[in-house]
Amino acid sequence: MSNQLSDRINRLVPSATLEMAAKARELRAAGKDVIGLSLGEPDFNTPEYIKEAAKQAIEDNYNSYTPVDGYIELKDAIITKYKRDNGLTYDRSQIVVSTGAKQSLYNVAQVCLNQGDEVILLCPYWVSYSDIVKLSGGVPVEVPTSLETDFKMTPDQLEAAITPKTKMLWYSSPCNPSGSIYSTKELRAIADVLQKHPQILVVSDEIYEHINYGVTEHASMAAFEDMYDRTITVNGVAKAFAMTGWRIGYIGAPSYIARACNKLQGQVTSGANCIAQRAVITALLESPNRIHHMVDEFKNRRKLILGLLNEIDGFECNEPEGAFYVFPDISSFFGKELNGVKINNASDFAMYLLENANVATVTGDAFGNPNGIRISYAASEEQIKEALSRIKQAV
Ligand SMILES: *Cc1c(COP(=O)(O)O)cnc(C)c1O
Repeated sequence: MSNQLSDRINRLVPSATLEMAAKARELRAAGKDVIGLSLGEPDFNTPEYIKEAAKQAIEDNYNSYTPVDGYIELKDAIITKYKRDNGLTYDRSQIVVSTGAKQSLYNVAQVCLNQGDEVILLCPYWVSYSDIVKLSGGVPVEVPTSLETDFKMTPDQLEAAITPKTKMLWYSSPCNPSGSIYSTKELRAIADVLQKHPQILVVSDEIYEHINYGVTEHASMAAFEDMYDRTITVNGVAKAFAMTGWRIGYIGAPSYIARACNKLQGQVTSGANCIAQRAVITALLESPNRIHHMVDEFKNRRKLILGLLNEIDGFECNEPEGAFYVFPDISSFFGKELNGVKINNASDFAMYLLENANVATVTGDAFGNPNGIRISYAASEEQIKEALSRIKQAV
């Protein structure tokens, strides 16, 4: 037998965003000038005051194993942050620090899902949700949304998707990839549906909380008293603090879930990196105003890219309210030929852009929406201008 791997890993689909980034790197190595708009990664450096805290931690010999669920000082900083920014009250037993929000999500899936449990995902959803759920024995149930509803799920859609096997609902707001933000009122309507189904837990992924362009205020599901005991609030520092490589994420959750995640980490990772944890204490305790220059910059780029996309026939966009992606509907190209290449679906289109415009984007299929592509605008204005001019030329 040539393949001695487990069924589990053979079934797992590689991350489409990371794969696209790898393809772009390959083409670059072959001498092509590829502009990468596929990865969700700020092009800023980690702020100086956070880097200083990390240097100090090295000097202070923070080199031992940390508590599995995170340094107490970091948990207290997270508690302060949740109170200050979200009006949420957690105690130390409800906080778990992990190696990135991605691991936080994986932990939660591992400790909450049994074989065959259904997890409702709002499409388009963040690329890894469905595979993390499947890897944990769960069954993703995709609720489609479209440009017309700003990619938001209606309460009726939720009601229709619920079955006796529904165990969880996962969503991100601000949403990666659509940039949509659920208002307090919209979340309340979803909570009202969930009231009739007390077995359903909610994962609220709030990692783009601070990257908000001021139209809809950030709201947390756990802030509703009747949802607090059923909601896992996931967050992290990767996006807002330009700390993708530092790998720190965290949850606030009912303590029985936090304890279970702690137990899992104790057998799997022994906890997150010591220096990164010390740096994140500073990141969270300092005022969020200190990162606003990055948010302002993303806002300028959003305006730039929406303007340029509007000049290209066949791209239909919503106006993202947060995060740093646009998710244009490009289904008008399906069935057509571009420079002799037949475009059957969003994957063909993304591949066409990579090969004919040297611009890396990601197919909407990876996010559970077959009509779109995701374009990241966490890139310089020159890069955005050049990329969009190449795309215009190519289509
Ligand atoms: C980037 C991202 C994550 C993962 O964050 P890390 O802390 O880098 O693991 C989780 N959810 C969403 C919606 C993201 O965009």
